[in-house]
Amino acid sequence: MLVRALLFAGIVALGAAASAEAPLPFVLKQIGPGVYAAIDGPEHKAGSNAGFIIGDDGVLVVDAFFTADAARALVGEIHRITPKPIRYVVNTHYHADHTGGDQALRDAGAVIIAHKNVRGWVRVNNINLFGDRIMPELKARIEALPLPDLTTDKDLTIWLGSRKVVVKTVLGHTGGDLTVFVSDAKVLFTGDMLWRKIPPNLIDGSVREWLASDAGFLAMPDAAHMTFVPGHGDVATATDVADFRAYLIDLRRLVSEGRKAGRKDDALQSVAPKMRAAHPDWAISDRLIAAEVKYMDQELAGTKKRPVPIPD
Ligand SMILES: [Zn+2]
Repeated sequence: MLVRALLFAGIVALGAAASAEAPLPFVLKQIGPGVYAAIDGPEHKAGSNAGFIIGDDGVLVVDAFFTADAARALVGEIHRITPKPIRYVVNTHYHADHTGGDQALRDAGAVIIAHKNVRGWVRVNNINLFGDRIMPELKARIEALPLPDLTTDKDLTIWLGSRKVVVKTVLGHTGGDLTVFVSDAKVLFTGDMLWRKIPPNLIDGSVREWLASDAGFLAMPDAAHMTFVPGHGDVATATDVADFRAYLIDLRRLVSEGRKAGRKDDALQSVAPKMRAAHPDWAISDRLIAAEVKYMDQELAGTKKRPVPIPD
């Protein structure tokens, strides 16, 4: 009996060790003193990137991943690295792959900060985003997402003791976008205003506004020496921001040429191979490029639907 009991205890201990060592759904990368990027893993289990900044008296988290499990794993990593409390989470925008884990961060002590428009969109527009075929479980989860505690339509400075974090409103991806800048570390968390070598989701976007905002990133003092944390894809540099702008400029030009051609649908069909030829190191799937061509075409036609702010 004793042997069996010991064996059983051993199996339980092994099981516990195995689950404690379960791989994180993201890769944590230190990108400055007390500044970390949490980059979605190759299986995309986190759904997007996130990150955090450790100040004198607390931690500010940027974005919350798609699932509570991924956000809880991030909380675990923060607690492993610092005993300081988690005080804030800034949602860069309302999309569920960036807000889905908000409750786990709130449970860990965070005040949820977001653009003013996120409060009206996070439980409603995320359902529209997934379309009619949304799974009931996902629909219920979105309808239960926490609403932000603190909203803004202006830039906001957050002091973590003596550490300054600037939250800026920007235009382009949804109509309710924020970036998070840590000037002492030269780090800008861009949310989905930047994607690295992955076609961006244009469903709520304006490429015209987006290009202007990203030109602003490149015009920041010392941009050449900054680190950019994109919403999707690996940690980026100013070269990646320029590459992303080139991608959007090429998309707009090719779709515009397609619209002017006599056989518009055929011309639009030819956008995908041309984009792949121009950006061979990007992961351009048929599905993603088809959606981008559709939304770009709508924007150029002036028929693009974008989320409408809902009054408080
Ligand atoms: Zn997004």
